[in-house]
Amino acid sequence: MFDDPIPIEKGMLRSPNHRRWRTQVDAIMSQFRRAFPEIKYDVAWNVCLLNGSAWRKISERHVTLYGGLMRHRLIGIEAATLLFAHETGHHYGGPPRDAIYEWMSCECQADYWAARYGVRTALGGAETEIKRVVLAGARQILKFERHLMKLGVHRLDWSSDCLDHALPEVRYKIFLKAAGLQPN
Ligand SMILES: [Zn+2]
Ligand SMILES: [Zn+2]
Repeated sequence: MFDDPIPIEKGMLRSPNHRRWRTQVDAIMSQFRRAFPEIKYDVAWNVCLLNGSAWRKISERHVTLYGGLMRHRLIGIEAATLLFAHETGHHYGGPPRDAIYEWMSCECQADYWAARYGVRTALGGAETEIKRVVLAGARQILKFERHLMKLGVHRLDWSSDCLDHALPEVRYKIFLKAAGLQPN
């Protein structure tokens, strides 16, 4: 359906069949499935959209991350973890909510929840490791979004009530603050 709306990015995308990367992403996705069993997670590897989405079908909760994002070479495993957490945060972050989809937390709230609770709940383990993942993930996402801005591409999933959130630097600061880290 979405064949390839971003041909300029072709060299920047991993193959959809990159086995080692897919194994790593599957391992993270399994941790989210275990932590949040009521959400159906998946990655649409062949859909070259540069975003993810949280969606509902009646009472079913879904998280889908798209290939353009998850195959992008600037998105490492830490960013992937933070992105699963972000989409989960749309379901569980609480208010403030999206202007259009009232069941859903807004972008900045989803980011806050992701770094404060999402990564921690999915990965468990030591606080230092959680902070490391959030910091590395936030840096990768910052670099990725600056790169997109340079190409003139805008992120597709920020909503109108969260205009500040369009700035990559604002997003980066939200992630760090939520994880108890200082921006440097
Ligand atoms: Zn979002
Ligand atoms: Zn917001």
